[in-house]
Amino acid sequence: INRFFDPIRDLSMQYNQLQRAGVAAERIYHILSVPVEIKDKEDAYELPQVRGDVKFENVVFHYSEEHPVLRGLTLEVKAGQTAAIVGPTGAGKSTIISLLTRFYDIKGGSILIDGHDIRDVTQESLRKQVGVVPQEPFLFTGTIRENIRYGRLEATDEEVEAAAKVVGAHELILHMENGYETMIRERGRNLSMGQRQLISFARALLADPRILILDEATANIDTFTEMIVQEGLRKLLHGRTAFVIAHRLSTIKNADLIVVLQKGQIVEQGTHDELLDRNGAYASLYAMGFRHTGSSEEEPAAV
Ligand code: ADP
Repeated sequence: INRFFDPIRDLSMQYNQLQRAGVAAERIYHILSVPVEIKDKEDAYELPQVRGDVKFENVVFHYSEEHPVLRGLTLEVKAGQTAAIVGPTGAGKSTIISLLTRFYDIKGGSILIDGHDIRDVTQESLRKQVGVVPQEPFLFTGTIRENIRYGRLEATDEEVEAAAKVVGAHELILHMENGYETMIRERGRNLSMGQRQLISFARALLADPRILILDEATANIDTFTEMIVQEGLRKLLHGRTAFVIAHRLSTIKNADLIVVLQKGQIVEQGTHDELLDRNGAYASLYAMGFRHTGSSEEEPAAV
């Protein structure tokens, strides 16, 4: 079981329920293709501890033959760098990320981590080093402590709290009715979005993957919490290779590399300043406050 992937497991459980309910699940399946189970190669080996260099080489991918999504995408993110992926809805941002975790197998080209083709290693070892922080934090009924510890079940109380401190969640947690023993109910509906995000950051930090994938939340949160979340995110990403589907201007500006994606192709890449100078696709997205990138109306171009 991989603890990062519960939302997907939930999805497939729902799918199973649909099937049992005798709904025409077949059709649903075809419209929204659900990841098919990917098997490890017979001679798959364990991915050794990586530095975190990631390369997409001429990657070709589609969900269905009629609709090519990536027609030969090449992208290199060096160990420790944060890449912010921006672009309009449907550009392929989530697809790139699903491919890196090998939710789907690519149809051509290769994806390499420190030179290891991800199809050659066991999925278990891959997912130990490639962590995912989903857009909607996955919280379960249990204490805050248990929810953070979910990142690494063997972690001690001290380690749980240390992780919470690093991402800036500790103070917030201490202010809750029962501190770390506060119960999370209904998937976290009794917590604010900012609190939920910080808990999921602490959980990810505890798991300590070399490569982190983050689908940045777009919900509006108050300015104070926003500052804490931004700082927490900065700490979480520090020293890791990160792929962020970025919606916040601050995240985008701080990225080492901004990748602008349109219709499955990289149209521009560079830093914020470089891309503004170029006065192309990125500059337009920026001028529009990244409003068409799937983010909500938050954050106008507040520089
Ligand atoms: P973004 O994350 O930039 O919004 P996506 O990667 O979700 O873009 O989508 C890229 C393209 O792939 C779109 O045309 C989308 O409709 C299609 N697509 C995404 N997910 C699926 C899926 N599970 N099944 C079929 N088509 C999909």
